[in-house]
Amino acid sequence: MSAYVQKLMAEVKSRNSAEPEFHQSVQELAESLELVLERHTHYREAKILERIIEPERTIVFRVAWVDDEGDLQVNRGYRVEMNGAIGPYKGGLRFHPSVSMGVLKFLALEQVFKNSLTTLPMGAGHGGADFNPKGKSDQEIMRFCQSFMNELFRHLGPSTDVPDGDIGVGGREIGYLFGQYRKLRNEFTGVLTGKGLNWGGSLMSTEATGYGAVYFAEHMLARKDESLVGKTCLVSGCGKVALSTMEKLLGFGARVITFSDTSGAIHDPEGIDQEKLEWLKELKGIRRGCVREYAEEFSSAEFTAAGSGDLDENPVWHHEAACAFPCARQHEISGKDAQALLQNGIQLIVEGANMPTTPEAAKLFRDRKVPYAPGKAANAGGAAVSGLEMAQNAMHYAWTREEVDERLQIIMKNIHDTCVNVAEEFGTPEDYINGANIAGFIRVADAMINLGV
Ligand code: NDP
Repeated sequence: MSAYVQKLMAEVKSRNSAEPEFHQSVQELAESLELVLERHTHYREAKILERIIEPERTIVFRVAWVDDEGDLQVNRGYRVEMNGAIGPYKGGLRFHPSVSMGVLKFLALEQVFKNSLTTLPMGAGHGGADFNPKGKSDQEIMRFCQSFMNELFRHLGPSTDVPDGDIGVGGREIGYLFGQYRKLRNEFTGVLTGKGLNWGGSLMSTEATGYGAVYFAEHMLARKDESLVGKTCLVSGCGKVALSTMEKLLGFGARVITFSDTSGAIHDPEGIDQEKLEWLKELKGIRRGCVREYAEEFSSAEFTAAGSGDLDENPVWHHEAACAFPCARQHEISGKDAQALLQNGIQLIVEGANMPTTPEAAKLFRDRKVPYAPGKAANAGGAAVSGLEMAQNAMHYAWTREEVDERLQIIMKNIHDTCVNVAEEFGTPEDYINGANIAGFIRVADAMINLGV
């Protein structure tokens, strides 16, 4: 670590204590951005990096709601409005007990670079609540979402801040949030994305992140004259991103043999076909069951319960495969998992989730020069289609599935090529992390300079 990064990190840690995810995100950025700060000193003089890592605004609020027993519950809601230099704040909402200011600041910071890479006019933010939607009735989810929006609505607007889904926030939650916003403001605007198709949503918004990650992987492989056809792939998670990643992988002729959820991990050596995937979508999306039931339904599959092995090992990553698509949560690939992947001949890592890789694992992949696409580039498809939903809402118009998909494919190819070209230009060929960080930075940094302090 250089003296500049050391000094920056010491300040970041002292001003943002107990926020390890945010520290990791800043450190990875600073290490990449040194290359550009040395070459273009005006960014350093304008203290762009120091400004980018400080949120423009953070909002913390009480969310009180009544459960089905009539008891009052209190949660904490947040919105981090990180950077608005290139457009309205834009980024997800996460409902999960682990949500804290540090986690949301890391997600919002990653979003700055992700949204910039799409080249669409979107600033960045992230928000959520320490609310656990698991096991709650639809009525409880609705009351929570309404109470959450009762405060958040005053900070939102189609030209101010436009949230989207993330962990624990899907179509159902976006519906209740949008419904409450509409009542409070008495207006029907594109203030949230991920909306239902018959009330302002875009086609492909649910699938965009996973599909985009697979398009990105295909471009990475094409550089080596290879493709996904016949490649064995490991996927983790079983939510919106994982299911759409699996679907597109099957579409490209790959073989998916794992997935997981909080109950544990599935290994299906026979591979998951379209029929099994449809069954899984119904299990997770409609019945809201757990993946253990997949092993009861399909005899080819083995189930490993969560917590039954070493705590720093995730069984998903301990199988022979060519490609890994972490799509569940942060820090789901430990150093031990990375070693297992490398021993089993992994050729490609594509992050569908945000920061799924621990610093030890990331270092191993980079040292061994395994092509490794960071989430801010590879999972930007969700942000891109959110931007396309905003454009459709502004036009009061809806594009066809083919039109949205075509735009998504163009955006993912551009992000891929930009990462490759910028990494090369800055003397680190094939380093997708440097390419994504530097390219994402330059667009926002130039806008910040143009807009003044
Ligand atoms: P979902 O809530 O739809 O799915 C998350 C999945 O991960 C669920 O299957 C969940 O299990 C599983 N999971 C959570 N914690 C664990 C754990 N400790 N061990 C094993 N599995 C776990 O979220 P998304 O699919 O939307 O998001 C997944 C990741 O992708 C996140 O990192 C998110 O930030 C990122 N992302 C999401 C985007 C989006 O558009 N939704 C866009 C870009 C990135 P269970 O089903 O049991 O809850």
